[in-house]
Amino acid sequence: MHAKTAPEDTGIPCLHRSPGFRKETLTMTSNQEPNRKPLLYYAMIALTLILLLNTFVFPMILSRQVQEIGYSDFLQWVDNKRVSRVSLDEQNNQIVFIATNDNGQEQIFKTAVFPDDGLRARLEAAGVQFSAQIPTQNSPLLNFVISWIIPIALFSLLGRVLMNQMGKRMGDGMNVMNFGKSNPKIVADKETGVTFADVAGEEEAKDALKEIVDFLEHPDKYAGIGAKLPKGALLVGPPGTGKTLLAKAVAGEAKVPFFSISGSEFVEMFVGMGAAKVRDLFKQANEKAPCIVFIDEIDTIGKKRDNGASIGGNDEREQTLNQLLTEMDGFDGKKGVVILAATNRPESLDPALLRPGRFDRRIPVELPDLNGREAILNVHAQHVKMSGQIQMKEIARATSGASGAELANIINEAALRAVRMGRSEVTQEDLMESVETVIAGYQRKNAVMSEEEKRIVSYHEIGHALVAALQTHSAPVTKITIIPRTSGALGYTMQVDEGDHYLMSQEELLSKLATLTGGQAAEQLVFHSITTGASNDIEKATKLARGMITRYGMSEFGMVALETVNGQYLGQDTSLACSPAYAEKIDEQVVALVGQARKKADQLLKDHEDKLHELAGYLLQKETITGEEFMEILNRKA
Ligand code: ADP
Ligand code: ZN
Ligand code: MG
Repeated sequence: MHAKTAPEDTGIPCLHRSPGFRKETLTMTSNQEPNRKPLLYYAMIALTLILLLNTFVFPMILSRQVQEIGYSDFLQWVDNKRVSRVSLDEQNNQIVFIATNDNGQEQIFKTAVFPDDGLRARLEAAGVQFSAQIPTQNSPLLNFVISWIIPIALFSLLGRVLMNQMGKRMGDGMNVMNFGKSNPKIVADKETGVTFADVAGEEEAKDALKEIVDFLEHPDKYAGIGAKLPKGALLVGPPGTGKTLLAKAVAGEAKVPFFSISGSEFVEMFVGMGAAKVRDLFKQANEKAPCIVFIDEIDTIGKKRDNGASIGGNDEREQTLNQLLTEMDGFDGKKGVVILAATNRPESLDPALLRPGRFDRRIPVELPDLNGREAILNVHAQHVKMSGQIQMKEIARATSGASGAELANIINEAALRAVRMGRSEVTQEDLMESVETVIAGYQRKNAVMSEEEKRIVSYHEIGHALVAALQTHSAPVTKITIIPRTSGALGYTMQVDEGDHYLMSQEELLSKLATLTGGQAAEQLVFHSITTGASNDIEKATKLARGMITRYGMSEFGMVALETVNGQYLGQDTSLACSPAYAEKIDEQVVALVGQARKKADQLLKDHEDKLHELAGYLLQKETITGEEFMEILNRKA
């Protein structure tokens, strides 16, 4: 007896589907549509600037203003010795010359060529240099600067702005000007703000992490004695159990920086970038030590590297993983960098990651038990106005199998319901209703079921409940309703266990199996026909029976594992581990086992048919029946 085997869910047989608690919780990440305006805006400004420079400023600078004057004026200026240099521009048929203007400054002038043989003698007489080239243009250096350097600088500025914008839009890590530089969020202790007090239950996990907190606070104490703390700890557990929360709490408790990065962020489009990112992350962490590096969803990069079965894209992941391994080996354990990682698929991790010196410490973060659930509910209830008479224990009891995230959601749903109802406090009723909302979806107020359908659903649900109540090993019925839910359930029966149990006996499993078949058994008995309403029951019953035979050794095959479980924390996905001959036998046994359960249910209902009618009549009329009412009617003498 090693494994805690609490097979499947809490047993809420129902008509159609009920998602139960074992479902992935969706986290809504607000994916903000990036602002496109600045991008266009910068581009426009830069373009306008270049255009303006080109049309107005450059020509002005390039051709220093050349003023044209009449030929006679020119001759007069020569005689007055105002002209210093003259050159003949034959191409444009003009004379260009430098003279002092009216303000006494040297300036370039030009004048049209006039056929004049005496000009030369006249110039010589005035002592004007006339052989020299007159520089009508700027120095070549200035010219170069203006026509090349400035536009290039402008363009690269524009480019940089565009790239930056693009980088921001692709996410922090993808800044194009910044290849391979990871930008892990550095959250100062004020900002994590999470402490162990915010994490309810999970005492074992907290204990294991307290040592790490102590190490981060007093690294010298450990160094003094020569003790090396594990470099990495791996938080494993189902989704929504508070792994990320715990990692933050460690940083918050130790008041150290918290570098958080998600495994999926490493897997990027360009080969080698993931590895560069790892390198950079560790470099930053070393500079900021003591600190915590948290790699969330590490299974994305840490998958086993063995089989080359998958095509393409693996190189990158492997490179990233290798870099991570190298970095973990390379850094100094005494410095105070602790790496935490979280995953809900520990079995898929590469063994190299788990060997001593890397993630050698494994901290299970399990689904909360009864007390844990109550504590989590209370933690989240602190932030919500609650009425005085709240019985959290009752809510905790009704939510067996729920994760911390789901419990937090239940509190929030209850608060939302209270607002909808125009109340300023959350009541017990809000909480109970939100439990059902989370289990079975919202009530579909406007869904109209025909009277005949309602009758069938009533008998179906009472069938489940009656079979459950008439067996000794079954959990007590707490509530039955036939109000349709958004999840598609037309009605459901809630059974709630008193305490928590991790083991289920063969008797309990058989009772559960009979309970699951009770719905259809009632339909058959009363209406002599069956409906599609039992599809969810059938699915669950088959899975349960199969598990009993292939995994729990509760069949003539004995203690032989005929199926293996993949992903223990993510649903119960199994794959066959036996020969085809056995597979056939397994199927036969599953059919036989479910058949037996159905026979038992048939018999129980037949023996108590009067109660079946009485209870179904009551449910049809009231639409909801509580556990007490149910038992009261059941125990009433006819
Ligand atoms: P995981 O990383 O294990 O999938 P998270 O740490 O992201 O789960 O938990 C999601 C949310 O659920 C948390 O932000 C918190 O509100 C709630 N939660 C989960 N477990 C607990 C717990 N033990 N105590 C208090 N709140 C919890
Ligand atoms: Zn059912
Ligand atoms: Mg998480």
